[in-house]
Order: sequence, then structure tokens, then C-alpha cells
Amino acid sequence: MSTDFTDFTDSIDENHERARNRAAAETSFDAWIGGERAAAADGRTFSPRDPAVDEPIAPVARCTEADVDAAVAAAREGYETEWADRTASERSALIREWIDVMRDHLDELALLESLEVGKPLSFARADVENGLNFFEYYADVARAQGGDQVATGSDSHAYVRREPYGVTGEILPWNYPILLMGWKVGAALAAGNASVCKPAEQAPLAVVRAAQLSEGVLPDGVLNVVPGFGEEAGTALTAHADVRKLSFTGSVPVGREVMRAAADRVTPVTLELGGKNPFVVFPDADLDAAASTAAVGGFYNAGQSCDSASRILVHEDVKEAFLDRYLDEVAAYEPGDPLAEETNLGPLCYESHREKVTEYLELGREEGATVLTGGARPDGEALADGYYLEPTVFDDVTPDMRIASEEVFGPVQFLVTFESYEEAIEIANGVEYGLTAGVATSDLSLAHRAAADIQAGSVWVNQYFGTVPGTPFGGFKQSGIGRECAAEALAEYTQSKAVNVALDVPSL
Ligand code: NAD
Repeated sequence: MSTDFTDFTDSIDENHERARNRAAAETSFDAWIGGERAAAADGRTFSPRDPAVDEPIAPVARCTEADVDAAVAAAREGYETEWADRTASERSALIREWIDVMRDHLDELALLESLEVGKPLSFARADVENGLNFFEYYADVARAQGGDQVATGSDSHAYVRREPYGVTGEILPWNYPILLMGWKVGAALAAGNASVCKPAEQAPLAVVRAAQLSEGVLPDGVLNVVPGFGEEAGTALTAHADVRKLSFTGSVPVGREVMRAAADRVTPVTLELGGKNPFVVFPDADLDAAASTAAVGGFYNAGQSCDSASRILVHEDVKEAFLDRYLDEVAAYEPGDPLAEETNLGPLCYESHREKVTEYLELGREEGATVLTGGARPDGEALADGYYLEPTVFDDVTPDMRIASEEVFGPVQFLVTFESYEEAIEIANGVEYGLTAGVATSDLSLAHRAAADIQAGSVWVNQYFGTVPGTPFGGFKQSGIGRECAAEALAEYTQSKAVNVALDVPSL
């Protein structure tokens, strides 16, 4: 399917109506259970909205406990009869075959993700491609992994098996549907588990479609998708007795609920939660580069990234020089139609989320911070129906303000100044989150020292969004438990078993 919308000269409403029709014409968005489409047991559907124009996109099966039960049963059967007995190489080959089919449908998956998230289409393409790279990485690593033998005397042979859990549950947020499906489902399947995946209610379409594309490639039941709401499908999945491992990405409050549900069954959990990530501009930094990196870190995906650089910590000696450059960079982010190739800032994903971000804009003003740019909805008729906000920068922010410590998750950055290295580190670490951080400096020694002193799962030097297949991603403090994106993620999807065999004294 072509997603070339550059020939669209109509209004944004007409553009999107055509795109929605095209996307929905390809398929229907049922659940995916046991290798086939399934309507919800009670027949109900819901419709995620296209945030650029506030219109429903397509009906989606609204799964509840009965559907989750069916999906877990299918996963168990798929695991026991098909997946568990395959070698890692066989599983890897099948996953790679599925990746090839998804690559053939990359434009279609990207269009769905763009429509449901409000993400610029060019970014959606890059994010889907990135997600497929993670699927591929896990499939390759799982195939290459060996086991451990433990040194013993000659009277025994001790070794360690790594075994999958069986059925695993993967709960996704809405901001990077296919990428996070790759991070979680990719690891689960490559490690030998069967998956029941629950996409976010705001953005289930690309994930459902990706699962459909596994038809005839992955054995039935190995991959299942149950779209629906957190309090219906999500809770049913976290409470299910046959789900032996859970992985969740989302907000801290829901992460706590998932962990509580898991505790009842002593189910291991991986939690990827929020962030309030610092980008520290030291006085010796290349300010042109730092300005553009800071803006990308804050405004990619309209700031709706757990690893978004929401706090810019800038040394007071270079603040003015940095600001000139940085505000020029921010001005390049212009709200627009996500389907237009040149757009780099789409709407927020759903209306109540824009309201929440807008409340933080109010709070920032009340707390005494100064709006340097943005702070409102964009003018003009064209974007009036969408959930847009201007890119916004607050200055005169102090670490004690709520806007300096709470996750806003929108196109908003907060500038805080510091005088010394120690102060920079204290501010960087002075929040309950510890997901990612950026450091801009031309002093290598300073870069390494800051990387050691900052409490975060990832520290990126003179760049931002530095996660690649193989670098572990996850949080310190309340940003989560466990790591994804690296070989250790596969270890989290397996349990070790120590085997020790007594060797008789030969009687010959
Ligand atoms: P959310 O916590 O509201 O929802 C996430 C998922 O959990 C959705 O699928 C939802 O349906 C489900 N859910 C909701 N209640 C549930 C329950 N009681 N039991 C089981 N499942 C339930 O988060 P969101 O608004 O979709 O995503 C935004 C948040 O995700 C932000 O805080 C962001 O920082 C975080 N996030 C973190 C990472 C990371 O890797 N650390 C990545 C992306 C997003």
C-alpha cells in the first residue's frame, strides 16, 4: 500500500478521511487469538480517534476477561505443542520470516501508527523500522546464545539450562506501538515464550495488524493480541494464573498496580515507567550542536516519549548564548498535518492528555516560571479540531517547582540554570525518576564523570535518544525495574535451571 500523501492538496480533514478509509479498507481490527481473527466474546468494539482531526478511525474488538482467557489458553497450547520444542534457530528463522512480511508492509504499519498516535508519518516509518530492528536483534541473539557449565569435580556434571516461562503478558503504551512491541514481544518470542500482548486503547491498530501479518508464519497461538482497556483486558491479563511473566510499559501509578497484581501470584515483572530526564549543557559544550540535540530530545513525538529530554540544565555562563541558538531550533518545530512529509510536530495523542499537559502549562505560570515561547494551542482553522499544542519552553524554573519534577509528557521543556558541576548533578538527580539523561560537553573526562554520577539507566553524551539494539534500556528509581533492548532482556524472559548429574565411578 502506498502512503504517499504528498499529492493531497485537500484540507487536513479530507486528507485524513481518505487515509483512514485506506487504512481500514485493508483489514478489520479484531483480536488475534490462536492464529486467527476473533471478535470480542460479547461482540463489543471501541474506536480509537485520529488526534489530528478528532474523528474515529476504525472499530476495534473490545476484549475483556473472556477474550483474555481464550488468548492465554491459545498461547498455552501454542507454547506446549509448537514453540517449546523448537530449537532457538528454528524459532529465530520463523521470527525473521515474520519480520520480512512486516517489512513488506512497513508503509501500512507506519500509516496506522501515524493515524492513531498523531505522529508525523516520516517519524512513524522510522519508529516502525526501528521496532523491526529490535525483533531482528532478539531473534539473532537468541540463536547465538550458549549455555553455562559449572566447574565441578569428576564425580558430577553441573550445567545451567535457560528455559522460557511459557505464557507471557506484554502491556504496551500508546506512544511507540510497534517499537515497544518489538522490545517486548520480540524478546518474549525469541526466548521461547508464547505472548499475549495488550496494546494501549488509544493505539491498538498497528499492533493488531502486525499480529495478522504473522498468519501462516508463526505457529498458531504463539502470538496473541487482545486490544481493549486497561481496567478490562489489562487487569484480566495481569491477574491470569497461567501468565508466568509480565512486562509493562506505561505510567508509574499503573505500573504499581501491575506489580501488585503480579505479587499475588509471585509473577516476575519488567516495568518501564516514566521519566523526567535532564539534558545538561556544560559551559564547554558545542552550543550549536547542544541546541539542536536539546530540541530534538524535547520535541520528537511531541515530547510524548518516556526518554524525552524534558529538563534542560544549562550553565549560567553560557545560558544566553545557548538560548539564542536553542530557541531558533525550537522555532523549527511547527504543528502540522502528521501526514504531510515536512511535518515534525503532530498533535498530542488524545484529548484528555492535551488537557493534562495544558494544566501543567497553567501550573508553570502559577509557580512563577516564564514562558519563552509557545504555551497555547496553535492559531488557525486548519488545526482547530486536532489535539495540538505549540512547542513550549519555560525559563526561570527552579528545582523545587512541581513542573521541574513531575512528568508532563508533552511538547514542553523547562530550563534550569546551574553554577557548578556538583549543582548540576544534584539537580539532575533530584527527582524520583532515573530513566535517561543527556550531557553536552567537549571534555571527555567530564563526560565520563557525569555519566557515572547521574542516576539514570542511560546517559547519552553529545547526542540524545542513543538506544540501539544491544544497549540496555530501563530505569533507576521509580522509572522501572529490569532492562530491555539488550541480551539481558532475553535473560529476563527465561528462568535458569541448575542441573547437577552424579557421575558414577566407572566399574569396568
Ligand atoms: P498507562 O499507564 O496509562 O497505560 C499503559 C498500558 O497499561 C495501556 O495499555 C493501558 O491500557 C494499560 N493499563 C491501564 N491500567 C491498567 C491496569 N490496571 N492493569 C493492567 N494494564 C493497565 O500509560 P500511557 O498513558 O499509555 O503511557 C504513558 C506513560 O508511559 C508515561 O508515563 C511514559 O513515561 C511511559 N512510558 C515509558 C516507557 C519506558 O520505556 N520507560 C516508554 C514509553 C512510555
